Amino acid sequence: MGWFNSLVAATLPYVPKPIVGFFSKNYIAGEFLEDAVQTVKDLMAQGMCATIDVLGEEVKRKEDSLAAVEEYKRTLRVIHEEKLDANISVKPTHMGLHLDKEFCYQNIKTLIEEAKKYNNFVRIDMEDSSTTDDTLDIYLRLQKEYGNVGTVLQSYLRRTISDINRLLPVKPNLRLCKGIYREPRVIAYKDKEIINYNYNYALKKLLSNGCYVGIATHDEKLVWYALKLIEELGLKKDQYEFQMLLGVDHELRRILVNAGHRLRVYVPFGKEWFAYSTRRLKENPEIAGHIMRNIADRILGRKQ
Ligand SMILES: Cc1cc2nc3c(=O)[nH]c(=O)nc-3n(C[C@H](O)[C@H](O)[C@H](O)COP(=O)(O)OP(=O)(O)OC[C@H]3O[C@@H](n4cnc5c(N)ncnc54)[C@H](O)[C@@H]3O)c2cc1C
Repeated sequence: MGWFNSLVAATLPYVPKPIVGFFSKNYIAGEFLEDAVQTVKDLMAQGMCATIDVLGEEVKRKEDSLAAVEEYKRTLRVIHEEKLDANISVKPTHMGLHLDKEFCYQNIKTLIEEAKKYNNFVRIDMEDSSTTDDTLDIYLRLQKEYGNVGTVLQSYLRRTISDINRLLPVKPNLRLCKGIYREPRVIAYKDKEIINYNYNYALKKLLSNGCYVGIATHDEKLVWYALKLIEELGLKKDQYEFQMLLGVDHELRRILVNAGHRLRVYVPFGKEWFAYSTRRLKENPEIAGHIMRNIADRILGRKQ
């Protein structure tokens, strides 16, 4: 299917915006905070919680990061006012990492302090490997001072196990995912089985050392292994959570929620949805394949 994914990914960016919007609407709450609020309310009615992402990355001007900080502050206030079961996820390059690391640190710190007022939490997303050192560095600095912050590790990176070994003494709160960016082989595993083995190895290390983990995957093989570990380690429901992307595998979501597991859905919103969708598709043609297969499944009634 490689050629099919690449073909879809190569042609979708040239498809008119309304058509991309039609395809993206399952994966993005909408342009406005109100859209995200409604999406979170719908998820809560189905027994789930959420993490809200204000779309944007790789900003070129500090004003854009500062505007994003304001939008996140508004989001935290509205989460509190509307009593939503949701926290926020922020991308370091949206907070200005590539402009000035200290500026980025201060922006994320501002959000953590704002979140703390509402007893809420900030997750620092992990972007491509050029940002890993700085992201972990910023996380560790903030983690020393605040308890309401976590970050993300990616099982495709060769460095992840040593990052875990380095982070374990501070009992990090981590989301564990496979990783979505295109990386060279010297940096990231390419073999899907190895990425899965590494995911399981990393998950076991984290859970058996008492870390809170957001188990972020739709891969049922990984979900099965996570459930096995949870059972073997006798973990309570508040020692981990599953996480999934908006619009992906509703059935697996329901299975986990019905079995009593905490499940958080990543809810992106914002004006940047078109740039975000096309960039993701260019970076990772497999997503295009997933989207087309999901649409076909829905049309043919094979999935809900
Ligand atoms: C909550 C959450 C937060 C994330 N945060 C980050 C992050 O900070 N940094 C980062 O690099 N990556 C992040 N990711 C993305 C992650 O790294 C993977 O790229 C993505 O989750 C797909 O991997 P998978 O484990 O689901 O396995 P895969 O084997 O890729 O997918 C398993 C199945 O899930 C379905 N599927 C997966 N993705 C999609 C999709 N986009 N559209 C439709 N169907 C899909 C397909 O049916 C596929 O067969 C996040 C993922 C989640 C769930």
